[in-house]
Amino acid sequence: MTNSNFARFDLQAFLINAVTAQGFTLPTEIQERLIPAIRSGKDVIGQSQTGSGKTLAFLLPIVDVIDYEREEVQAVITAPTRELATQIFNELKKLLDHQEEQTIQAKLLVGGTDRSRMIDKLEKTQPHIVIGTPGRISDLIADQALTVQETPILVVDEADQMLDMGFLEDVDKVASRMAVDLQMLVFSATIPEKLQPFLRKYMNNPRHVHVKPEH
Ligand code: ADP
Ligand code: MG
Repeated sequence: MTNSNFARFDLQAFLINAVTAQGFTLPTEIQERLIPAIRSGKDVIGQSQTGSGKTLAFLLPIVDVIDYEREEVQAVITAPTRELATQIFNELKKLLDHQEEQTIQAKLLVGGTDRSRMIDKLEKTQPHIVIGTPGRISDLIADQALTVQETPILVVDEADQMLDMGFLEDVDKVASRMAVDLQMLVFSATIPEKLQPFLRKYMNNPRHVHVKPEH
């Protein structure tokens, strides 16, 4: 018996344990709606205000489908800044720490850390999940340090900030190297009109999950 309402999402037990260990009993509204949408395999736009729990909403269904026996990058998660990427990575680690064996590997790939060391490590093994800024990830793909041709999931977090900071071009470079039928997951507090050409280019009949702030 578990009293966690996360249990009904039918995620692996270690994920439910990880969420419960953090004291989260009820999913937030955006989590409630995003988790099933992401699990359906469709492209999803998740829109809700900052602090509503979007990170866990995408990490849980992504981690759940990783096949640790395949030593391939199975999800690329991009965020506009080193700090935001690091925050996502730390949330991911809190989930992965609950695995019985540490089988799923994740790597934080951001600028400002030694690139040649990063490349050496990636030559030895490809992580299952990579998180980073789009510039650094795109560079590592160009260097052939990261192989993503068959990677089926791309997350674009804080898409409005990506747009403001001029990083959509780098996201575009990453996406264009990935599987043509990839599942694109875009998260943002706002969806400005200027984001539309990018969304139209990569998203195939996306589900728009929008939780509006209460007044
Ligand atoms: P967003 O990406 O929507 O801005 P975050 O994913 O950063 O929001 O989440 C904000 C905070 O809420 C984080 O500290 C996170 O640990 C916490 N949080 C996430 N899910 C829950 C939940 N179901 N219950 C309580 N707190 C949660
Ligand atoms: Mg966020």
